[in-house]
Amino acid sequence: MTKIEKEIRELEDKIRYHQNLYYVKNETEISDLEFDLLFKKLQKLEEENPELVSENSPTKVIGSDLDNSFEKVTHKIPVMSLANTYNTTELQDWIIKTSEEELYSIEWKVDGASIVLYYENGKLDKAVSRGQKGIGDDITENIRTVKNIPLVLKEKISIYVRGEAYMGFKDFEKFNALNDGKYANPRNSTSGSIKHKNSKEVAKRPIKIFTYDGYFLDGYGKIKTHTEMLAYMKKLGLPISEDNVLSKAKDVLKNIEKFKNKKDSLDFPTDGLVIKLNDFALRDNLGFTSHSPRWARAFKFDALMKESKIIKIDFAIGRTGKITPRAEIEPVQLGGTTVRFATLHNQDYINELGVGIGAKVLVAKRGEIIPAVEEVVEAGENGVFQLPNNCPTCKTKLDHIDDSVDKFCPNLDCPDREVNNLIFYCARNQMDIEGLGEKQIQNFYDLKYIKKIPDLYNLHKKESEIMELDGFGKKSVSIILEGIEISKKKDLKLLLPSLGFSEIGHKVTELLIDSGYDDIDKIIAIAKSKNAEEELLSIHGFGEKIVQALISTFQDKKVLSMIESLKKYGLNFHAKKKELSSNQIFLNQSWCVTGSFEKFQPRDKAMDLILFHGGKKVTSVSSKTTHLLAGENAGSKLEKATELGVKIISEKEFLKILSENQISL
Ligand SMILES: [Zn+2]
Repeated sequence: MTKIEKEIRELEDKIRYHQNLYYVKNETEISDLEFDLLFKKLQKLEEENPELVSENSPTKVIGSDLDNSFEKVTHKIPVMSLANTYNTTELQDWIIKTSEEELYSIEWKVDGASIVLYYENGKLDKAVSRGQKGIGDDITENIRTVKNIPLVLKEKISIYVRGEAYMGFKDFEKFNALNDGKYANPRNSTSGSIKHKNSKEVAKRPIKIFTYDGYFLDGYGKIKTHTEMLAYMKKLGLPISEDNVLSKAKDVLKNIEKFKNKKDSLDFPTDGLVIKLNDFALRDNLGFTSHSPRWARAFKFDALMKESKIIKIDFAIGRTGKITPRAEIEPVQLGGTTVRFATLHNQDYINELGVGIGAKVLVAKRGEIIPAVEEVVEAGENGVFQLPNNCPTCKTKLDHIDDSVDKFCPNLDCPDREVNNLIFYCARNQMDIEGLGEKQIQNFYDLKYIKKIPDLYNLHKKESEIMELDGFGKKSVSIILEGIEISKKKDLKLLLPSLGFSEIGHKVTELLIDSGYDDIDKIIAIAKSKNAEEELLSIHGFGEKIVQALISTFQDKKVLSMIESLKKYGLNFHAKKKELSSNQIFLNQSWCVTGSFEKFQPRDKAMDLILFHGGKKVTSVSSKTTHLLAGENAGSKLEKATELGVKIISEKEFLKILSENQISL
């Protein structure tokens, strides 16, 4: 092995080690930036030595720009779904029928997307969605980007593994915040993600996988029980849930209670449990019905799933224009409330269920607020429902945005979008305008008192009319008008995300402000400037999509004129200054920090000092960078800075600057 080859392999191992630590164990030993450096170093070495790139290099895992409409693959193992049981009596009956002497494995039923991983000779050969009738989509490139599954097993063995791709709640929240809250729930965004056309995009999404069943070409091979199989899979490096329990038949219900008690503290979505017979020989004896294995049952947490019938399907159109089909059902009691509506998410979901008007369905509440149609018990006479081609409200032709499975009304003046924009603007997480809830906003909108956000600031002119309306009095009207007045004092940090521009949520706004774009005029100026793209991309956490959204938003004349009107009404488009030192020695300088330091650990401490004393933070070196603070082992940034003639400051020099300016650490 040459020296270079050795270095490449070592880097691969190092990167995998840190990925595993981060994605599997939720721990970190190095900062994101340090990780990026390792990663870039490997990329560079691979570029220079293409013959040394290994097939399963972590750089490949990050995805390539392929546009595939997914090849169909016939599964080599059974991929049936499980028969459901909804209460303990049903489950008890099944156990009695199956075996009262044997052991059962109890596992979470993770609520995501079902997949099969095909490992050949220890390497991930194919990842295939469950699909239908034993045929799935080849989603290998996408699944390769999932960081908690191994691309190479610890043994050179061929094993086929069933698993569930999912997003954890915390990961989902973070991801959704960066995407302006446009995803409904972790399950939907997981299903959408694994079928995404661009694996590079998938790589950015926090998808994880649990594996729960293993098969060899000849079935179970020498392995005798399910628990042994899971232990073996774990040994191979596959992610297995830590919560699985092996239970005596008589203790299954007791154990289910324990799982139930733990459910609310989980960080991943689950819709129940899976109970499996542990002994493989017995499984083989029992075999399968035409739909499902006889040796396993899904146990849905009871009282959360009820049968009903679909009366009608209507739509909600959100502020982004997304259309969500909603089923009106015969009312059922579910988890203490009467449920009259259940979501159908989108056309893909409808197709998968085969649901239509008149169908008998199971409706479930999954710990989320909106219940969903989960299963079709009996198809209706009207066939599978098709979403309309045109917006039901404004009749504009509906559109798919990018490769989203959802359909959108592209009309910015669509009444539904306008109302929801207003609702969003006034909502608690946004401008938090007291007294203006959905009902009031809809009411004022219908009366044409308000249409767009700036109209709110003219609402006081309608004071006497509002006072005449049913349900309004002097007190409630003054609360609303006062609330609107107070909103003028909130600053850019809240105002910008409240405007509901695509991609520009709280997180993006914060990053803008932290990078010195603390005024709307600065943001508009940068978005309009010639090197907008380069400048904005240098902000850590900003990707291509966000940058393009910023540029197109702030070049849009309608947006700019709305901002102008809001300014005239006295809204505050400036962010409150973070407390800064009066000693602004780094003013007008853009600093990038790289490498490791003796006195600054973590090195953010150095950046904090720079920011506190007036400097601007950039995370990549460009022609606009004025200074690079380079510590030990500074890598590509140092090279780039040298190339561009950026001033390079060592730790020693930096300490000297600080002490000359009486700045203590
Ligand atoms: Zn519309």
